[in-house]
Amino acid sequence: MSDTAERRSKPNFFDIDFEKAPFIAIWEVTRACDLRCVHCRAEAIPNRDPEELTKEQGFKLIDELRAFSETAPPLFVLTGGDPIKSPYTMEYIKYADSVGLRVAVTPSATGLLTREAIHEMKENGLTRMAISLDGSTAEIHDNFRRQPGSYDHTIRAIKDAQAEGLTVQINTTISRWNMNDIDNLCALMQKLGLTLWAAFFLVPTGRGEEKDEISPEEYEVALNKLYETARKADFDLKTTAAPHYRRVVLQHQRAEGKSGDSSRYMRPRSGEGSPEDRKEGGPPAWVLRDMKPGGWSRGDSIGRAARGVNDGNGFIFIDHVGEVYPSGFLPLKCGNVKKQSIIDIYRNNPHLKKMRDFSQLKGKCWACDYRDVCGGARSRAFAVTGDYMASESYCTYVPPALAHVQGVDWLAPDMLIKDVREYLKPEDIKQFEKPA
Ligand code: SF4
Repeated sequence: MSDTAERRSKPNFFDIDFEKAPFIAIWEVTRACDLRCVHCRAEAIPNRDPEELTKEQGFKLIDELRAFSETAPPLFVLTGGDPIKSPYTMEYIKYADSVGLRVAVTPSATGLLTREAIHEMKENGLTRMAISLDGSTAEIHDNFRRQPGSYDHTIRAIKDAQAEGLTVQINTTISRWNMNDIDNLCALMQKLGLTLWAAFFLVPTGRGEEKDEISPEEYEVALNKLYETARKADFDLKTTAAPHYRRVVLQHQRAEGKSGDSSRYMRPRSGEGSPEDRKEGGPPAWVLRDMKPGGWSRGDSIGRAARGVNDGNGFIFIDHVGEVYPSGFLPLKCGNVKKQSIIDIYRNNPHLKKMRDFSQLKGKCWACDYRDVCGGARSRAFAVTGDYMASESYCTYVPPALAHVQGVDWLAPDMLIKDVREYLKPEDIKQFEKPA
């Protein structure tokens, strides 16, 4: 990578305004994949779709992603299916790196992911390889992936990537399939030398079914176990489709007396990351943990977002035929990059704009003191209720403003959709509404 590209690829940590640019843009290069995983969001298929973006359209997309921001372009992730099944993936990595994007890839752990392929990706400018590991044993992982030998390929690929000098991220989908294995998974992660553990929580979309979801109470158990792991680990940990992890972290930090002024970040409309807040003292401790001066995590230049990423809010997903979605787990079409620029779609699509406006949330997420740092998973709200602004139905937290309400089951989906304003005093309501 040239010096210019290197300089450009490290945006100012606080320059990312989610109204203007996502922190992360994920492109499903192809839907083709040799695995048949139980939960597959993409409902992957064995062969490439003839309607996939052409190479020229792919390069154009990369140019547009780079143009999101001179100083803070998004992290660019090539996913699938299996991106290795596209003949152009190596060229995309090389081109994206040459224009100054930080590039990560999420290949499937199959025989195609050879040491040579990993070496070529690294030579072309790849920063990080993310790979899925869903069980602490071959039996659990391979059952989930429906492919004997997948666990062995995964462990080998992790070692190969590290030997090539790449940082490694491990993605784990937490579901009914591995809830009982979570302690073993936490222990295993400590031994793998990873940079980031990304815990995905199943959203019933694609092949993921609601019966495979863990219960709201199990979410609480899992999120607390992740927090305990993150405290001791020398890697970063983030969740996908479970933003209430951030609430759990802040609750722990408060209880441990470490939160200091982080309560500012729990206030509705706190404008987290805004110039005002920065003046007051910067981002909360969970953001700064393990960061180098300037906000960069250890190991590579990928970094972590200065505020909570959520569907369509700091996050955008482009599928193999160019359709744009708020995330890979929220199947709401917002435009197509074959016809419209990704910048225009991200900034101006009415659904995406609405998703970024937490004052329009419904139910208890609207009245929650953690709304600005969490906001609930918009993808799960959509999957469970059909309304992407409805409350997160797999969070057990009852906001203080609603604690006086007796005899209400806050986990019942119909209560969550219901506007909670009728339960609040007028002075309470005011604090949760958008300023005029
Ligand atoms: S109630 Fe909603 S906003 Fe509050 S912590 Fe739970 S999911 Fe997050």
